[in-house]
Amino acid sequence: MPILLILLTIAACLPTSRFARPDGFTRLDSAVATLVTMALPVLLTALACRRVVRALDADPAARPRVARQYNWARRRLPLLTLGAAVLSVAGWGWSDTVAHTVVVRVGGSWRLAPFAELLMPLPYFIALALNWVSHHAAERALHRTSEAARRNPDDPESAEFWTLGGYVGFQARQLALSLGLAVGVCALNLTLARFAPETMALPSLQLAGLGFAVAAFVAFPRVVPGLLGLEPLPPGPTRDRLHTTADRLRVRFTRILLWPTRGLIVNALVLGVVPQARYVIFTDRLLSALTPAELDAVLGHEAGHVKHGHLWLYLAFLILSSAFLAALGGVAEQAFKAQGWTLPTDYDWAFGVLPLAGMGVWLFVVFGWLSRACERQADVFGARAGSCADPYCRGHDAATPLVEGGRGLCRTGATNMMAALDRVGETAGLDRRGPRLTLRLRAKAWLRAWQHGPMSHRIEFLMHLADDPALGDRSDRAALRLKLGLSAALVAAVAGLSLLVDWADFVRAL
Ligand SMILES: [Zn+2]
Ligand SMILES: [Zn+2]
Repeated sequence: MPILLILLTIAACLPTSRFARPDGFTRLDSAVATLVTMALPVLLTALACRRVVRALDADPAARPRVARQYNWARRRLPLLTLGAAVLSVAGWGWSDTVAHTVVVRVGGSWRLAPFAELLMPLPYFIALALNWVSHHAAERALHRTSEAARRNPDDPESAEFWTLGGYVGFQARQLALSLGLAVGVCALNLTLARFAPETMALPSLQLAGLGFAVAAFVAFPRVVPGLLGLEPLPPGPTRDRLHTTADRLRVRFTRILLWPTRGLIVNALVLGVVPQARYVIFTDRLLSALTPAELDAVLGHEAGHVKHGHLWLYLAFLILSSAFLAALGGVAEQAFKAQGWTLPTDYDWAFGVLPLAGMGVWLFVVFGWLSRACERQADVFGARAGSCADPYCRGHDAATPLVEGGRGLCRTGATNMMAALDRVGETAGLDRRGPRLTLRLRAKAWLRAWQHGPMSHRIEFLMHLADDPALGDRSDRAALRLKLGLSAALVAAVAGLSLLVDWADFVRAL
């Protein structure tokens, strides 16, 4: 979802993918149509959430059924909101309306005001914020009636639910984290290109811009703790154990941090390509749900991403992919023109939309493939994190020496990693059923988990790993071959295509 959202938000901002208003539509018509279209999903969300609150007020015992219905709607209503935004931009010409309304006069001609492209996806974000208000009421009602809240006072689920402001802030911060950098760099780039086109066209400046984007990417994690409201881990045995494990694995980062989500998210993540700006983040719900050995495995998974250089790999992959797709687009355009073909003027937006659609498909297929291979490597490293020197050991006690640097792999380590995934899946309500799913359900599971692979698939692999710990080395070698092969193929393709298109076009596309 975030990648799709980033691509669509950028598409809404780009002048190349701007749709004209329908014939006979004034700017006011377009604005009114956008308002009505965006109001519809907001209204539906409000009604669905109101029903949840009423049903729980009337009969708290109906919670399981109400929660199921709510979760169903919670997954589908955002797609409706997104669809309404796409309709507003593509059908009602909303971006075009903004482009003709929010203008400034510069040197005798009218230009789009600085950063006015941010107004183009704005209706979507306003609708999203209004939906959060509705969801807050529904989730608070679900929280109030939850079993866990009454059973265990230490459970973060039993903590007081977010206030409305806190909840909206919590959601807005996550959105800012996933979209802020990409959309901000894009809007800055477009504004500069509009007001200083000659300067921005200089190859040296474009290279500098690329350097700036990479530097922003490297330094970005430094602002994340403030952005998400992360806290230091509370002192105690959990913190001590995680630090001991990190030392044993010899992984370097700035800090391990706690993400207080009031029980809403079960997750851990690692951010940052350099140790000076790298954070390992655990949510409150994950910390409370997992046993110490399972937390070690999760930390090991995140450390695996660092140890195997996955974050650098993703950065290099994204840069190489953009270069490759830009060059491919350039070659296709040359061929198109050489044939003497032209697009009817009504369809010239296709030149803006096609590259973005191509990028989407490319990310889904190729990046998804790479990402799943990396996740498997991280899972193997998570198993290594709690492994002793005997591959076929029969369990550990407090005195069992574990292998330094994550170089060992034993049955118990693999079992711990498996248990950790299983418990994360259980706590998050994910599908952990075995492989006997119907084809349709399996396809859905893959679609939803295109970056990680479905939980059931990962657990099955760890089961094999526990049976045959030597599988770990074999699977790491396979991942290395994939990474090297894919990088080499991309570099070769970019080098080959650069003979066919102008090199300066390349940098511009980046
Ligand atoms: Zn991972
Ligand atoms: Zn062992």
